[in-house]
Amino acid sequence: MDDIKTQAHNTVMALTPKVCASINQFSADGFKTRGGRLGSGMGLLLEAMWGYHMNQELENLNSSGNAVEIAWLPDNEYNDFACVFQDRDWFPNNRTGELFRIEAKSMNLSADESKAHFDELKKNFTGNDLLLVLVWKWEELDKQRVYPRIVDSFVGQATIIAELRDALHIARGGSFVDSKKCPDGCDVKTCTHDGEPLNAAGKRERLSGPNSLRPSANVSFAANFGGLIRMLKTNSADARKVFREVRKNNEVAHQYISFIHRNLPSEEKNQYLTNEWRILAQKLGIKGDLEIEELLSQIRSKENYQEMLRELD
Ligand SMILES: [Zn+2]
Repeated sequence: MDDIKTQAHNTVMALTPKVCASINQFSADGFKTRGGRLGSGMGLLLEAMWGYHMNQELENLNSSGNAVEIAWLPDNEYNDFACVFQDRDWFPNNRTGELFRIEAKSMNLSADESKAHFDELKKNFTGNDLLLVLVWKWEELDKQRVYPRIVDSFVGQATIIAELRDALHIARGGSFVDSKKCPDGCDVKTCTHDGEPLNAAGKRERLSGPNSLRPSANVSFAANFGGLIRMLKTNSADARKVFREVRKNNEVAHQYISFIHRNLPSEEKNQYLTNEWRILAQKLGIKGDLEIEELLSQIRSKENYQEMLRELD
């Protein structure tokens, strides 16, 4: 069983770039438009299309006996998709018939700040569950028309990204509710707040957090926790240290960080100190007393610079 799970897991991850290419082809044919607005819901449509296009690829595999497909989760579930056996019953309530789940998120590169949040509590994921992130933008098709193009994608173990997120949340001064001493004074047996994130000011980050910790009468929760970009930001030497340790020690975390940073270069620039960029330049054999922007552009022209950043002490 575990072999089948791992195999399906690896297949879905490996097929994702091809699936994105096929969505792009479809979008260029069918979703071309003049204008192209932000906040249009197009990101949600692209996420849904990932499920449909992934199924086309899985069908083509024609694997004997253990064929799987992507199912769309009904309402009120935190995940978006489940990978299920094609020929068996599926009961989402208790995960019968499914191998793992996939939570899908999308980010528009032109938006000021991504609205997408990965804020589900770590305890709600199993080891094989995946996080999928699609980065897209309106791309010119001809002089007048654009279409939504997925420019990059990440897919990896959701628990690892949740661990990275949680470690940096604590490093920023945040905490998590312990149901044994819930701020709402709940009975430990019935408390629903265990593991809820609180920010450095002690206010709840999610609507489902303790009611006594709402930020103010007008704001019911802070909503910074799990921002796909924001969760990687660090604001102190201690937090930077945690970031570097997790990146160095975990391949999936490293892949996520590299993915966000290659799509948002200014975030990468801010994560590292100027003297760290200079040390890296030296290691890469870049010479001369260069302005930071020129230095960064030369560093980024080296294919392995993110691997080198990972190893920086
Ligand atoms: Zn409680």
